[in-house]
Amino acid sequence: MNMPNLCIYCRNELAGSNPPSVSHCFPDAIGGLSYTTNTVCVTCNNQINSQVENPVIRGLAFFQNIWRIESRRGKVPRLRAVLRIAGLEGDVVLDETGTPVGPMVLKSDKKSSSKSFSVIGRGDQVEEKRLEIERKYPSVQWTELPLGNTAESEVRIELNLCGDKFRRLAAKVAFERLSQIRASEIFLGQEFDDIRRFIRDGEGASLCCGLVSDLQLLNGSLNFPLPNHGVAIIGHPQDPILGAFVTFYGLFPYWVVLSTRYTSLMSFDDLLLEHPQRRVEEHPVLRQNLGSVRVNWSQMIEKYKAGKQESVRIVRDYAIEKFRSALDEYYGKQST
Ligand SMILES: [Zn+2]
Repeated sequence: MNMPNLCIYCRNELAGSNPPSVSHCFPDAIGGLSYTTNTVCVTCNNQINSQVENPVIRGLAFFQNIWRIESRRGKVPRLRAVLRIAGLEGDVVLDETGTPVGPMVLKSDKKSSSKSFSVIGRGDQVEEKRLEIERKYPSVQWTELPLGNTAESEVRIELNLCGDKFRRLAAKVAFERLSQIRASEIFLGQEFDDIRRFIRDGEGASLCCGLVSDLQLLNGSLNFPLPNHGVAIIGHPQDPILGAFVTFYGLFPYWVVLSTRYTSLMSFDDLLLEHPQRRVEEHPVLRQNLGSVRVNWSQMIEKYKAGKQESVRIVRDYAIEKFRSALDEYYGKQST
């Protein structure tokens, strides 16, 4: 029997779209590979893209740039940084190879009393930029940078890990992964209404997603190698909760409650890892005994509810530490 294709969010019938509508579990803009076809309607897809995916993706440019992960147009995003040389500082944009783009204007930092400027970059660009600044500020004082100064650059990463958007994206990954492996089941009944609503429209009455701050889990089964994106879906016959874990770049881990009224007939666990740089998918077996993975979901939810800021602190420290040891491994133990 041929069932019509229904949108997994609004459950409206998908008009026989040709070519089929494609929705990536992990957004293709962050190197996501796995996708579903004809499961998400254009309206829902656009809404989720503009409200959830795009705002989160913009904040992840640092990771895309440092790992040279190509976005959907095959481009590595540029990166904004602050460059400091000899008491001067300025904003720079680094291209996909980490090279500053265009001439950079450096100003004396806020601490110093005098205002002086310097422009660095390609000769002709420097001259042009200097003239432009002199027209604006005729009394400008130029500082010649002595050779051999060490430059220091700083990149600020501001991620709202507990925010609505990041959590909705994690929920979307889990839900679309589920629709990929259990296509027909997710239309049945209302047991997935909460998660649908959360992903498409934001927070509802029940909490569907939060940060994982259990270090035993983070250093154990969820310790995916950088920069893998990972999604694991877990159900157990004695548990009405069908849940998932979603990790971005091996650094930012979320739990997702897909349904609290799910009847799992047998143990159900599925793990997908995607390496966004090498562009390969893996399906490793969950490290604990396959077929009997049980998660104390309610404990995880309560812990998150009781201390969101504490969860953010734990995950931030975990991510920094993991990222730093990866750098140490790569460059030798001297990075700061
Ligand atoms: Zn829809």
